[in-house]
Amino acid sequence: MRKALLAHVKRVVIKVGSGVISNPAGLEIGRVSAISNDICRLLDRGLEVVLVSSGAISAGKGQLGITGRPQTIPQKQAAAAIGQTHIILRYKETFQAHDENVAQVLLTRDDLSNRRRYLNARNTVLTLLEYGITPIVNENDTVVVDEIRFGDNDNLSALVTSLVEADILIILSDVDGFYEEDPSLNPQAQLIPVVERVTPEIESMGGDTNSLVGTGGMSTKLKAAKRAALSGVGTLIVNGRSENILTRIFDGEDVGTYFLPSQSKLTAKKHWIAFSKKPRGKLVVDEGAQMAVIKRGKSLLPSGICGVDGGFERGDAVRLCDRDGEEFARGVISYSLAEILQIMGKQCSEIEKILGYKYRDEVVCRDNLVLTLEDEEESD
Ligand code: GLU
Repeated sequence: MRKALLAHVKRVVIKVGSGVISNPAGLEIGRVSAISNDICRLLDRGLEVVLVSSGAISAGKGQLGITGRPQTIPQKQAAAAIGQTHIILRYKETFQAHDENVAQVLLTRDDLSNRRRYLNARNTVLTLLEYGITPIVNENDTVVVDEIRFGDNDNLSALVTSLVEADILIILSDVDGFYEEDPSLNPQAQLIPVVERVTPEIESMGGDTNSLVGTGGMSTKLKAAKRAALSGVGTLIVNGRSENILTRIFDGEDVGTYFLPSQSKLTAKKHWIAFSKKPRGKLVVDEGAQMAVIKRGKSLLPSGICGVDGGFERGDAVRLCDRDGEEFARGVISYSLAEILQIMGKQCSEIEKILGYKYRDEVVCRDNLVLTLEDEEESD
């Protein structure tokens, strides 16, 4: 069954967690080499790989004399700056032994939030793949501040999966897959081989565990699987510490947990609006317009807006909220805050009279609008 599932796969995003290539003492060079060897075998089989590798902070902290987790942000950023060179060097050396090449791609959330930079990043990564070079992506930890963080590399790997339109996301974790219960608390816990949909029930089973190294626990992996599913891609969570795990996956071995892609996938543009683009403000929308958007698939017109919050420019993403402030959709807005303040509550026919010009009737056009999914609450 797994073999059939993987038969169509050509482009793979592989996420390597810090816990897979490092331990609390620092980077495990042998693990980086083992994973690189495994990836090179996939390249030999004609697959394209985009690697999202964590581990920079773990690899660099030793040189700052830090044992355990670095505490302050400057410490983490300095450790990442040091450690990133260590991990890339080790990947590069091992790939080179197979006559393969790697390239480093460091991204911030801002890079993917801006459409032009998003497309630029996409072109760069696709060009590297065209040249047969394996991109190794990480968050640009050294420069990011909280407002522009992806947060964790599970999320980053899901966004990269959509960015490069990969066929599968493989998350290498330090556990065998997704369990009914936390296996570290209950050794009898059963592994779930296939998850059809990440429902709130599944999420509550994931708990909120954080590993000793790295940022993500199972909850961030479930969120990543959900986001990948919405771009029409399945996610496999497997144990990255198992020998030759990648080769074994593509040999058809039934390992880990496979999360099926969603039936109703978002277009690449809508996926970007939903998850990569950072919302800048809020529109409060009356009940009639809310129903028109949710039930009848309509665009948002100025007449339906009864309040605004936050500064935004034309082309920014905004949240569409009900009168209680609850988000029900988000989309790219065709007018600036200053313009909205003048035309809100008014008919489309009045826009030109009020502003002296009109871009379009719709404030948020349907093509640029995504309904907020019941179980996908964005925190930022
Ligand atoms: N970017 C961080 C690093 O390379 C890891 C983030 C994560 O573990 O999710 O250390």
